[in-house]
Amino acid sequence: MSATDIVPQAVVRRGFGLKDQIRDSIVSDYHSDLIRRIKEQGHTLGMGRLTFRLAQEFGFCYGVEFALNLAYETHKKFPDRRIFLTNEIIHNPRVNNRLHEMGIDFLEASSENPARFAHITADDIVLIPAFGAPVDEFKELKDKGCLVVDTTCGSVVAVWKRVEKYAREGFTAIIHGKFAHEETHATSSQALKYEGGKYLIVLNQEEAQYVCDYIVNGGDKEALLRKFEKACSPDLDPDQDLKRVGLANQTTMLSGESLEIAEMFRSAIERRYGSELVADQFRHFDTICTATQDRQDAVNKLVQENIDLMIVIGGYNSSNTTHLCEIASQHVPTYHIDDASCVVSPSRIRHKPAGEAPEVFTDRWLPDGEVTVGLTAGASTPDRVVGEVVDRIVNLAFEQ
Ligand code: SF4
Repeated sequence: MSATDIVPQAVVRRGFGLKDQIRDSIVSDYHSDLIRRIKEQGHTLGMGRLTFRLAQEFGFCYGVEFALNLAYETHKKFPDRRIFLTNEIIHNPRVNNRLHEMGIDFLEASSENPARFAHITADDIVLIPAFGAPVDEFKELKDKGCLVVDTTCGSVVAVWKRVEKYAREGFTAIIHGKFAHEETHATSSQALKYEGGKYLIVLNQEEAQYVCDYIVNGGDKEALLRKFEKACSPDLDPDQDLKRVGLANQTTMLSGESLEIAEMFRSAIERRYGSELVADQFRHFDTICTATQDRQDAVNKLVQENIDLMIVIGGYNSSNTTHLCEIASQHVPTYHIDDASCVVSPSRIRHKPAGEAPEVFTDRWLPDGEVTVGLTAGASTPDRVVGEVVDRIVNLAFEQ
């Protein structure tokens, strides 16, 4: 019997009905009794001179839970088959290490290597991560006849549909995101499904302003193409393709910034072509996911509430976690750490500052006396890791 006889679909998106059988494994790998108790106590824990305040929304989002359930179900269903992931399933080292321990192999991360799927056969199973995969990778895997288990989050698929629609209707997709991020790579590929489909990725308001200035005043076409060399469709012609633009964003960007960027493009189209043509030449749809929005809103609220410092927990390559750090660091001293080992002692912490900065050590991070520590975690951070951080801070503080 071949692999495709066992499960007739080439692509599975809904699991194998084994949720009950994998629940205990998920709980033991990722849940935390301490965090459950803190939540039950109104998201607050008092321990001597320390008070911990947990954001109202933090940690695993629905997309991550869905992806992990599907990965565990696949492992349960096919214990004897080779299972691969095209990339990290989510951006959290603890989770990826656990999947690796279970025997799930990670394919070479670089999607620029044309031979990265060369050793995949029809008997293999390939998991697509929560942030999806580019159109050409999906096709290559389907052509190989292997079973593809697609854990792409529904909120990411919603953005893909939006970008596809722009391409179908002759709009260039302007994507607020990081061109090297797997999700944005997959999202931009949707524009190329249609003949003549185009995209341009802007990282921030500075890059958006550069493009908007070009829309309004024209400029040096070659310089624009050089600046966005890795961030636009191969045959983008700025003089033709920036006349009709539709905005979308990586689901985990700062929502306020995405809205401002959309407004910058609307205004540029209006200035260049007149207000009567805006409806024909500009499209916008807010594609920040609700989980990202809820976590950003919760950290914004927490930093207004008399806390002395914030600890933000999550992978350093997790986009939504770095944005939580950016928000908090505008208000209080903030330390983005990826797990409990970063808390070296009550007087020393290893962390990654907001922005592109590398990891650093900071001394005297925990003030003397009564301290209120705010805590949040990115959408890919297990409660277990958050619980370990609380535990370690408490133990170290009481050893002093
Ligand atoms: S952060 Fe949003 S888009 Fe990403 S997996 Fe979670 S719910 Fe889905």
